[in-house]
Amino acid sequence: MMNKLVDQFIKKICPEFKGIASYVGGKWVFGTGDKINVKFAHDDSDLFYYQDADEDIINQLNYCTSTAQQQWLSMTAARRGQFIYQLGERITENQEILAQIESWTANKPIRDARGEVAKVAEMFFYYAGWADKIHGKTITVPTGHLNYTTYEPLGVVLQITPWNAPIFTCGWQIAPAITAGNAVVLKPSEITPITSLLIAYLAEQVGIPKGLINVVAGYGHTIGQKLINGANIQKVVFVGSVSTGKNVAVHAAKRGIPCVLELGGKSANIVFSDADYDKALRGAQNAIFANAGQSCVAGSRLLIQLDIFDQFVNDLAKSTNKFVVGNPTEETTHISPINNKKQFEYVCSALENAQKQGASIAVGNTISIPKTDGYYVNPTILIGNNTLDCAQQEIFGPVVVAIPFKDEEEAIRIANDSQFGLAGAVWTNDVARAHRMAKNIKAGTVWINNYKNIHVSSPFGGYKDSGYGRSSGLAALHEYSQIKSVWVETALTPLVNFGYGAQEV
Ligand code: NAD
Repeated sequence: MMNKLVDQFIKKICPEFKGIASYVGGKWVFGTGDKINVKFAHDDSDLFYYQDADEDIINQLNYCTSTAQQQWLSMTAARRGQFIYQLGERITENQEILAQIESWTANKPIRDARGEVAKVAEMFFYYAGWADKIHGKTITVPTGHLNYTTYEPLGVVLQITPWNAPIFTCGWQIAPAITAGNAVVLKPSEITPITSLLIAYLAEQVGIPKGLINVVAGYGHTIGQKLINGANIQKVVFVGSVSTGKNVAVHAAKRGIPCVLELGGKSANIVFSDADYDKALRGAQNAIFANAGQSCVAGSRLLIQLDIFDQFVNDLAKSTNKFVVGNPTEETTHISPINNKKQFEYVCSALENAQKQGASIAVGNTISIPKTDGYYVNPTILIGNNTLDCAQQEIFGPVVVAIPFKDEEEAIRIANDSQFGLAGAVWTNDVARAHRMAKNIKAGTVWINNYKNIHVSSPFGGYKDSGYGRSSGLAALHEYSQIKSVWVETALTPLVNFGYGAQEV
C-alpha cells in the first residue's frame, strides 16, 4: 500500500517502482517479514506499508558489495569523483520531488525539506572534489628508509540512520564513504526508507556501479541487528539514539569492528545580557522549534542571564505564537507534527512529567494547533532548572527549558552538567568571553552568535554520550579509510632488523 500522491512522486524518479523493498545490487528485493505500517503524522492516515527484509539478503549483499567495490576501485580516482559529482547534479535536478517525498514521509515542513535536499546535493559536490586528493604523507624516519602512508578504503561499511533527517543523514554518510572507495549497506529507519532508496537508485542512474550503494528496508531490531553480523561489514556508522547506539556498538565490538556513533543531545544555548537581544531571540527560537525540535543539535536548554531572564522568556513566548503549526506539506507551515505516534506519546509524557516536577509553562505560550487526529504538540517554553528530567533527558520535540544563570562560571557549570555533549551556543558581544566559553563548553560543536550552522566541510560529532568519531569534512574521509605505513629500504648497505631496531648481525 502506498499513498497515491507519494507513489506518483516516486515514479517520477523511478518509473518501475512497485512498492517498498530493499535495493540490493541494483535490484528491488521484497521482504516477507513482519508488516511495517507507516502513518502520516498530520492526521494519522495510512501512508504506506511494506514487509521487513529477510535475513538471506545478507548473502546477496556480501556478493554484490565486493564485486561493486572492485569495479569502483578499478576506475581512476578522478573518474570516481566525476560520478559522485554527477550524483549531486541528479539530486539537484530532482530536488523538488525528493523534497515533496521527504515532507510527506518524514513529516518535515516542505520548506525545510527543500533546504535539506539541497544540502545533500552539496555533500556529493564537496566530496567529489576530494576523490583524487586523498593523499598520504612522507614521514621523516631516523633510518635510511623512505616511509610513506596511504589511505585505503575499509571495504564494506554499514550505515544505520534515524527518522528525523532521513535524506540528510543518508547523503551525509554515503558521500564520504564511497569517496573513500568503500561499498555501502545503508539501513534507514523503518519509518523513513524512501528517500534513501531513491538516492541509491539515482546513484546507479549516473553510472556508479550496481551494488556499491545498497539500502535495506526493515526494522532495526531484526535485520538491522543481523546486518551488524553480516560477514563482510568492516565498520558501523550509527546515527540515532544513545541506547540503540550503545547496543549497536556492543554487537560491533563482539565482531571486533569499529563504530562511529552520532547520538542524541541536550545542547545549551547560552544568552548573556550583553548579547544582541533580537538576534539571540530569533536564534533561540530557530534552535529549538525548527523540525518541531526533532533535531539532534536542538537548543533544548536555553540558559539566560538573570537580569534579562523574564523579559527574554516573555518575548520568546510572544514571538513563538507567530509560527504556523500545521500540515508539513503546506508551504506556510513552520512547525510540523511529531514524526510518529510513539515519539508523540513520549513528548506528551515528558511534558506531563516536567510539570509534575515543578516546571512551569511560559505565560503567553498559547499557539494554536490544528484539530486533526495528528501528532501535534504545542511548541512549549518551560521554565525550570537543570536538575529536572526535562533539562537532562532528550525530549526530541518542540520543548525548550529556560534556565536562569548568574554569571559566566555558572553558565559553564550548567552547560556541562549533562550526559550529552553534541553542541552548544553562546550569545554575547564580549569577544574574549565568547572564546572562553567556546573553549570551556564540552561539546563537539560550539556556535558563537549563531545556531545550527552545519556544513559538510566542517567536522561534526559528539562528546560524552553524544557519541564518538566524526562525520563531515576531511575527518569523515579518514573515518571511512584505514591508513597504511610503507617502509622502503634505500641504504646501500642496509642494516638488518633483529627485533624492532636496526643493527648489524
Ligand atoms: P533509534 O536509535 O531508535 O533508531 C536509529 C536507527 O537504528 C534506525 O534505523 C533503527 O531501525 C535502528 N535500530 C534500532 N534498533 C536496532 C538494533 N538493535 N540494531 C541495529 N539497528 C537498530 O533513533 P531514532 O528514534 O530513529 O532517531 C532519533 C535519535 O537520533 C535522537 O536521539 C537523535 O538525537 C539522534 N540523531 C543523532 C544525530 C547526530 O548526528 N548526532 C543526527 C540525527 C539524529
